[in-house]
Amino acid sequence: MNEECLICGSPLQYLETDEMMECAICGRKELSKTKCIHGHYVCNECHMAGLDSIIGLCLKEESADPVSILEDMMNLDFCHMHGPEHHVMCAAALLSAYHNAGGQINLEEKLKEVLRRGRSVPGGACGFWGACGAAISSGIFISVLTGSTPLAEEPFALSNEMTSRSLAKIAETGGPRCCKRNSYLSILAACEFVKEHFGIEMKTHETVCFRSHQNNQCIGKRCPFSLANHPSFVKNEKDS
Ligand SMILES: [Zn+2]
Ligand SMILES: [Zn+2]
Repeated sequence: MNEECLICGSPLQYLETDEMMECAICGRKELSKTKCIHGHYVCNECHMAGLDSIIGLCLKEESADPVSILEDMMNLDFCHMHGPEHHVMCAAALLSAYHNAGGQINLEEKLKEVLRRGRSVPGGACGFWGACGAAISSGIFISVLTGSTPLAEEPFALSNEMTSRSLAKIAETGGPRCCKRNSYLSILAACEFVKEHFGIEMKTHETVCFRSHQNNQCIGKRCPFSLANHPSFVKNEKDS
């Protein structure tokens, strides 16, 4: 249910400074700020094991709605309530939806690139770097889409603007972190951005979260996706 530690399910603690940790799954030793209250540490690589399966999923998707593609990924076993896997998933969902909405891209090549880039954004970047990984993922999406590099002009501007727009939405809502909420916010910000700058209209729908019971730090009504903020949605579900 409200599981946080992948080993024992106990709540995670976030330290202010790095400690040498040993991954309870692969044994890798590295500096990190996250462990469970019983001392278990799981490295980013192990946390994201199975993530490669999203490439196959994305290539089969026919939807132009990135949130529904994201939901399909979130329903897979590799995806946890919170974790750095979301840093790849947002960009991958956006690329697939962009492609299905008529965007002319080599989807498979671009998916592989977002997988490589997104994996290197660690868990906890939201609180420790001041830049949520889901927001960075939306910037990675625009960067990969436009072929941005540190020397680019317009693509550089667009990628950084994308990340900043997602971050603004995330900041507005406040913490504690929720990888689901921040993923939804970033993807919806990207849909608007792409419509404005690329003339491609991805699909969106009324987004409501059904995973709050799995989140020990759910902010309830403060979350724009809380069922409590979507009374008509609850009613429609009952009627149908
Ligand atoms: Zn544990
Ligand atoms: Zn490991």
